[in-house]
Amino acid sequence: MEELKGFIRNIPDFPKKGIQFKDVTTLFQDRYGFQMCLDAFESILRYMPIDKVAGIESRGFVLGAALADRLKCGMVLVRKKGKLPGETIRQSYELEYGTDELEVHLGAVKPGERVLLVDDLLATGGTLEAAAKLIEKLGGKVESMACIIELTGLNGRKKLGKTPFISLISYDED
Ligand code: AMP
Repeated sequence: MEELKGFIRNIPDFPKKGIQFKDVTTLFQDRYGFQMCLDAFESILRYMPIDKVAGIESRGFVLGAALADRLKCGMVLVRKKGKLPGETIRQSYELEYGTDELEVHLGAVKPGERVLLVDDLLATGGTLEAAAKLIEKLGGKVESMACIIELTGLNGRKKLGKTPFISLISYDED
């Protein structure tokens, strides 16, 4: 999967000094790169029992919706606070650069449904951990989590407990 790195752009000092921002928009906008990424996830996830994909705003929406189509699943939107129009539940979390809150619609996942949680990148793990709490509060089971990129130097996996986590490529810088 190392070829995928060729489609990802590194932007130093964004959104603040010292952060090496991994920009996946250059992967999404390339038909070969995006298909390669989806094919890789599909081959890993094809036989996993999943009812719904939950994507985290905003790059997780792009990947999540494409995977929901490949896996023939429903798609749930996990959004930053104040964006969802219906009644929501909320979970706060810490980012690599600041704090924020995530929300999901009440009833978006039904009790017992098996969910694949998707985002573009795992850094400290706080975002996926918060999203998993939201799914669990709704009664869903987080079957697996998946990101294109893992920043191994930040050890985000340890926040994810025993839930299986899939990443396609990793960088050991932090
Ligand atoms: P974390 O909660 O620390 O695992 O951060 C993951 C979330 O923050 C994901 O939604 C990423 O899109 C974003 N993020 C954190 N660090 C980076 C980075 N170095 N490059 C791109 N996105 C990042």
